[in-house]
Amino acid sequence: MNYSWGNNKRYNDYSSYIKKTFGERVQKLSVNAGFTCPNRDGTKGVGGCAFCNNSTFNPSYCGPEKTISQQLEQGISFFQPKYKTMQYLAYFQAYSNTYGDTQELLKLYKEALDHPLVKGLVLGTRPDCISDDLLEHLATWQKDYYIAIELGAESTLEKTLIDINRGHTYDETVQTTQRIVSYDIPVGLHLIMGLPGETRDDILLHASEVSKLPVNFLKLHQLQIVKGSLFAKKFRNNPESFQLFSAEEYIEIVVDFIERLNPNVILERFISQAPHDLLIAPRWGLKNFEFVSKVEKRLKERDTWQGKLFEFGN
Ligand code: SF4
Repeated sequence: MNYSWGNNKRYNDYSSYIKKTFGERVQKLSVNAGFTCPNRDGTKGVGGCAFCNNSTFNPSYCGPEKTISQQLEQGISFFQPKYKTMQYLAYFQAYSNTYGDTQELLKLYKEALDHPLVKGLVLGTRPDCISDDLLEHLATWQKDYYIAIELGAESTLEKTLIDINRGHTYDETVQTTQRIVSYDIPVGLHLIMGLPGETRDDILLHASEVSKLPVNFLKLHQLQIVKGSLFAKKFRNNPESFQLFSAEEYIEIVVDFIERLNPNVILERFISQAPHDLLIAPRWGLKNFEFVSKVEKRLKERDTWQGKLFEFGN
């Protein structure tokens, strides 16, 4: 049976979307352009979001001491011997990659796009630091390149966003998502599942809330306590204030979430994988592909699929 997204996977998955869009294998390659973020440079705050240690996002070849081209070359040389025809998307991942002077930003993005194997850009950022001026420029590049933007939403509950020191509101996530889409630029959101104070019902409410938005992609992440974050300190002093999921509990929540999610939203990830030496808890020892296959197995066992409990118009 084919679902509304055109294949028989039980959820609308990102790799099928990539194959459909590019007709070939495309890999996202992280680059670190040396940005900061308004929640660290004093504009919104200095301590950062309570869960954040940016080192967890950076593969070892990425470092702002290297140029964008050098980072891409190193990343490509890792994949190239195995996948000769592979193409790449430059993934500006660390910190807020739309935070700065428009011309300076465009110069950095262009350096990535000038690589002959790079087909486009994915820009990770916060909902409160992306200007219309930048969006206008990016929209004009769309005819030659693939351009997408990922926003860290993290939660749809204003109270949680305050508690985790996020420095922006969910309303800003909604407004910015709509603004990006108005430029015909695909947009993805990140959510963290299991932030302190959020119940199972709150987490499932996130599925209903993001389903109302014109979101193209979604990345789900289990809450991880990583060294160097504010949560790491809190976890050391008061571990019982966190309810970290076991892998089995999280799989059930992910399946419950998928059932409630608008079938038009493409699911890109279910988990994060912080580097082993930075991760404090939970330590599941599961790689991404292992987790994905467990979710797929559970969807089958429960005979359910993305959007089974979603009602259009709600
Ligand atoms: S998660 Fe993003 S916005 Fe928050 S402190 Fe880290 S880099 Fe800044």
